Amino acid sequence: MKVIILRKKQFKAESKKLLDMMINSIYTHKEIFLRELISNASDATDKLYFKSLTDTSIATDKLAIRIDLDKDARTVTISDSGIGMTPEELEKNLGTIAKSDSLNFKNENEGDENMENIEVIGQFGVGFYSSFMVADKVEVVSKALGCDEAAKWVSEGADGYTIEPCEKDSVGTVITLHIKDDTENDNYSQYLEQYKIQELVKKYSDYIRYPIVMEMTSQVPDPEKEGEYITEVNDEVLNSQVPLWRKSKSEIKDEDYNEFYKQKFYDYTDPALVIHSKTEGQATFDALMFVPQNAPFDFYSKEYEKGLQLYSNGVLIMDKCGDLLPDYFSFVKGLVDSADLSLNISREILQHDHQLKIIAKAIDKKIKSELTKLLRKEREKYEKIWETFGVQIKWGVYADYGMNKDGLKDLLLFKSSNGGWATLKEYRDRMADSQDNIYYACGETAEKIALLPQCEAVKEKGYEVLYFTDDVDEFAIQMLMEYDGKHFANILKDDFDLSTDAEKEAMQKQNENSKEWLGKMKDLLGDEVTAVKLTNKLGSHAVSLAAEGYVSLEMAKVLSQMPGANDQMKAQLVLEISSSHPIAEKLANADEATLEKYTKILYNQARLIAGLSVENPTELADSIADLMV
Ligand code: ADP
Repeated sequence: MKVIILRKKQFKAESKKLLDMMINSIYTHKEIFLRELISNASDATDKLYFKSLTDTSIATDKLAIRIDLDKDARTVTISDSGIGMTPEELEKNLGTIAKSDSLNFKNENEGDENMENIEVIGQFGVGFYSSFMVADKVEVVSKALGCDEAAKWVSEGADGYTIEPCEKDSVGTVITLHIKDDTENDNYSQYLEQYKIQELVKKYSDYIRYPIVMEMTSQVPDPEKEGEYITEVNDEVLNSQVPLWRKSKSEIKDEDYNEFYKQKFYDYTDPALVIHSKTEGQATFDALMFVPQNAPFDFYSKEYEKGLQLYSNGVLIMDKCGDLLPDYFSFVKGLVDSADLSLNISREILQHDHQLKIIAKAIDKKIKSELTKLLRKEREKYEKIWETFGVQIKWGVYADYGMNKDGLKDLLLFKSSNGGWATLKEYRDRMADSQDNIYYACGETAEKIALLPQCEAVKEKGYEVLYFTDDVDEFAIQMLMEYDGKHFANILKDDFDLSTDAEKEAMQKQNENSKEWLGKMKDLLGDEVTAVKLTNKLGSHAVSLAAEGYVSLEMAKVLSQMPGANDQMKAQLVLEISSSHPIAEKLANADEATLEKYTKILYNQARLIAGLSVENPTELADSIADLMV
């Protein structure tokens, strides 16, 4: 046997901090320690079961999780017959927080007051550590499958742990918690009571697939003496063992779903939407899916991995099956359980599995239909989800050359000049007969777009404008091309014009007549603009920039930030001057020096209005100040 030197080891720094939080937690749900330990035991048993599918020498007829209470010794013991841990694994798994997600999250939030708020712990898979919320000493004895040696891990909290060899006959893990003494605020002794443990198992771990067994004491009538009772002690199974998703919907309460979600997917808020479906036909499967209220902390990072848990007849075969979810629904959490999948199927084969593809298609359809239903029936809830995850769906419209656009277009929401959010259909239904296109404008926020000169003018004419505030919006809409026979028109484009033919003609004439000074302005601005024009599109405002050609201002902004950006991705800008504004006349009659100064000022002002930066703000400020004195 390998000799393990017994000496106190320190937890890794991060683990230590977390442990401190656990030990001193004011967490109101200390009771979750039990479900965490039972979940670990269940996972370990799953792993053993999974191995047994290819190794018939592994017996699986007695798989169970046991809880023993000892009031005198003040211990709660949780034993499993799962896969166990080797001494090295004990060290690795319980001496550090292996999950890099938790680590990253902690590092990013270092020094943040909220880290003291134990609520965030729900986001970690800190499972095992939660035992220190109720115990001042924890012992773990474990023997791994296929390993001769057993080891015992002991810790009294943050100052470290020991590992030493020990004897253990059977494979599995035994965790003994030495329950803390009661304090003024905390009644720890309750966890030594049978009824309390029974209640907690029912509440949190009812669906665990393996029997959770505990010795229960009950009073039964004495068969020999009438009217008297005797005490009987029997092993009882505390959980129903039916997975939540296998139960019929009518049996399940909202709280059951919420509790299940939070426990399984490490969230601390209830889900925004629950989708529970039973499908029969080409593929037979149960699916239980959730849309979270908040984006997971790593959702927008590369580390985030989409996917649903995959079960075959109640046995977990893959933790994150990415193929089950399209990218545009990557925020959906949940699981799929199908009897049609072979248990010991390998991941590589699974990827090409025909059955899996059918399931994925059905899942996609189901999520779409549930979101559509929510949009119709519970608008506010849908809008909340949209605000959190809508960008993902918009990317879905754009991605893969628009392959999925038709299935997603009616899920889209945009802020609108009509107030609040609008679907494309709502916009379409409100369109006047005379309106040819769906109008939109891009900018940083809806409020800022609403203030753009062009936008004010279009609204004054009585038309609705959609406000595009995300980078992806215009790209998605370009991909969509049209909605219900109507094309989209960017009102910030140079060719956007709502005037009548007569008005257009008049404008053209005015431009013709002002050719000389407009041309001078263009020359002064050089390559910055492709033209300077008079326009009637700006209402009471003096100047604005419009884009010419395919690339709009917003698209140019997005494209210029991409790696490998080049000049071709620049928007071609037209400086527009309101023909009805007194400035037009001023410019027409200005001397060379004044024209030069005004041109620069007006161009920079137009850039600011468009949300573009000004190359030399000091010069601009000085020029304006000069005009004031
Ligand atoms: P998590 O379960 O979220 O991974 P834990 O801190 O609860 O985090 O556990 C860390 C690791 O320790 C687990 O991933 C598992 O490998 C191992 N482990 C914990 N409990 C058991 C157990 N009862 N049997 C076997 N391994 C276990």
